[in-house]
Parts: sequence; C-alpha cells; structure tokens
Amino acid sequence: MNINKSIFIAASLGIILGLIINFLPNLFFVDYLLVITDLVGQLFIKSLKMILVPLVFFSIVVGVSNLGKGKNSSLIWKSTLLYFVTTMSIAITLALVVMNIIQPGIGINIESWQLSDSLPSETMTIPEFLKQFLLSLFANPFDSLASGKILPLIIFSIIIGIALNDRNKKLKAAKDLFTSLYEVMLKIVHWVMLFAPFGIFALLINMVVNQNMELFSQLGIFIFTVIFLILFHGLIILPAILFVLTKMNPLFFWKEGRPAFITAFATSSSAATLPITLSVANDNFKTSKEISNFVLPLGATMNMDGTALYEAAAALFIANLVGMDLTLAQQLILFFTAMVASIGAPGIPSAGMVTMAMVLQVLGLPLEALAILLPMDRLIDTFRTTINVEGDLVGALIVNKITKF
Ligand code: ASP
Repeated sequence: MNINKSIFIAASLGIILGLIINFLPNLFFVDYLLVITDLVGQLFIKSLKMILVPLVFFSIVVGVSNLGKGKNSSLIWKSTLLYFVTTMSIAITLALVVMNIIQPGIGINIESWQLSDSLPSETMTIPEFLKQFLLSLFANPFDSLASGKILPLIIFSIIIGIALNDRNKKLKAAKDLFTSLYEVMLKIVHWVMLFAPFGIFALLINMVVNQNMELFSQLGIFIFTVIFLILFHGLIILPAILFVLTKMNPLFFWKEGRPAFITAFATSSSAATLPITLSVANDNFKTSKEISNFVLPLGATMNMDGTALYEAAAALFIANLVGMDLTLAQQLILFFTAMVASIGAPGIPSAGMVTMAMVLQVLGLPLEALAILLPMDRLIDTFRTTINVEGDLVGALIVNKITKF
C-alpha cells in the first residue's frame, strides 16, 4: 500500500477509534491506550521537528545557490511574494466581509471586558511590531539552529545561497557538500514518512478524545463561520486560482496533495508538515526542486492564509462581544495587522494565538478574550494549518508553472 493511502486509512481509523472512546470511556484498556497514543503522536511530531531545521537550512541554501542560473530567478522571487500577499489579502477580505454581514456575538456585551477605551501605554503599535519583526530576522545562525528559530535561519540560508550563487570554482566544493547533505536530509524525511501513518493515527485519537465539546455550543456561530470561511478559501478560492493559472484539475490536486493536508490537519504545524509538503511537491507533482525548495520553506513560515483569515475574524468577533463597533479605518488597521501577525507567526501549533494578542492590543480590544478563544484553538488550528499548507503548495505549483513559461 502506498504512503498516501495508508495515511488516509490511519487518519480515518484514528477518528473512529477516538469517537468510540468518547462513547465508551470506561473500557479497561482506554487509559493505557491513551498513554501509548500520546507517546507515539509525540514521537512523530518530535521526529518531524528533528529533521525540520537542517532540512529548511539545506533546502534553502541549495535552492538559492542554484537560482539565477537561468533568466528566471527574480521572477521566482517576485511571483512568490506577490502570490503570498495576494492570497492572504483575499483571505482577510473574505473574513471581514462575511463577519460584518453575519456579526456573531453582537448584543452580548460582556461587562467585565469593557475596559478597552484607554489603550495601555505598552501596547505594541504596528511600526513597533514591524521594527521587532525586522530585527528578529537577523540573529546568530548557530543560536537560530540550536533553538529552531526558523525566520532568521531562512535569512541566513538565503545569504549563504546568494554567496554560493557564483561560478567561482573555489566555491564548488562547498556547493557540492551542501547539495549532498540536502540529499541526506531527504533520505531521513523518507524514513519519517514511513512512520507518519502511525503518528497520525495516534494524534487523531488523542485529539478527538480530549476535545471539550461543551465549549463549542457557546461559540457555535463563530466557529461555524470561521470553519466555513476557511473551507471556502481552501475548497473554492485557492483551487480556482490554481486552475486559472495552471489549468490543474482540483480533484487531482487534492488527491496528490493529501499526505501534506492530512499531516497538517493532524499536527497543526506547517513547519512540522514541511518535510511532507516538500516530498509531495517533488514526487507527486514533479515540481522543480529549485522552486519547491524556495517557495515551500518560505511559505511554511510566512504564507498563512488560514491564520490571517482567523485573526481578522476573531478580532471582529471579540469586538462584537464587547459591543465595540469598528470603523472602516479600524478595519483597515485590522487588515494590515492580521497580515503582519500571520506572517510573523511561526508554523507551529497555536502560534496564531500568540500573535492574536498583538492584533487585539493594536485595536484596543481586551486580551482576556484569549481565554475564550484558546480552549477551541486546537480545533480551529487544524483547519487553518491545513489551508496554510494548501496555500504553500498552490504557490509552489503556480510559481513552478509561470517561471517555466
Ligand atoms: N498552526 C499554524 C501553522 O502551523 C499557525 C497558527 O497557529 O495559525 O500553520
């Protein structure tokens, strides 16, 4: 059985078993089973994290050092960034328009939260946030490697790649070494992929069993709206953009991309999914490695359609809950803040919740609201991460197509 099928079957079995345990929690083996599934799930995530940093590093060095051989390198850069900004803008606009129409949470007026008229002086403004964000891009590469800080590592690997992007013979040995180490990483990724069905099976059992269903009823309309919007973006908008620009059949896209989507769903981490996204792009879609090695690692940390959509929608929801009517100008600020916050969010579980605090602060909304957003974040994060990863894959396919002419 191929890996694609076994991941799909493992995911279905994990959800079914999780539901059965929810109905029959007193079965004698449940406690043991949950410890084992927790262990296996954690091992899977840890093995992905283990390979992630060296993989990103070598893939970008190799990708950038080979860029510019042809006439297309600046086209790759420009089209990638244009694609990221465009699709995130569409996602945020979608959230703003629909949330303004449906207005979940309006009329509730949570009294204890009405403290938002005076902004605290330590509130991070957008320029301050941008300053911090830009500064965080440059760091000691060894520190970034050791602590798994992806963005400064991406910048450093781009710089090495640019330095190696030279016909000077003295650089050839270094280039060959990086290329060969990159192949070693891909081999390890293949091994991790073999473990993926077990890891996903275990993660999904635990996720279904641990979700507190009570909370869903309180936030029902909001959750439903957000999930609907995320699915709309992932099932209609991204495939439509892909189809218009590459003529790729969406059914073919979903079928071949499935291992990456399911892993994203189960791990809630675009970064942890990256090894699988890369292998799907290279093996299933036959994307040029030069393109996927550049677009996908960058996308896994910067291009987050689901996160951007969610942050905009959640801010409007909280504004409704406290009875604050956001003006057009405030919604414009929300637009840019949600974009910056999602670009700044690393591709790890619930990262969007951390940068959500910044969005709330910028708008003068109460941070206590995080308390009602957090309990259901595990559920929504699965959806937004899947769309984040889908967006990266669509980006790689589009850039692959338009830069090849
Ligand atoms: N978990 C998301 C990701 O890895 C980020 C987020 O929390 O929105 O893509």
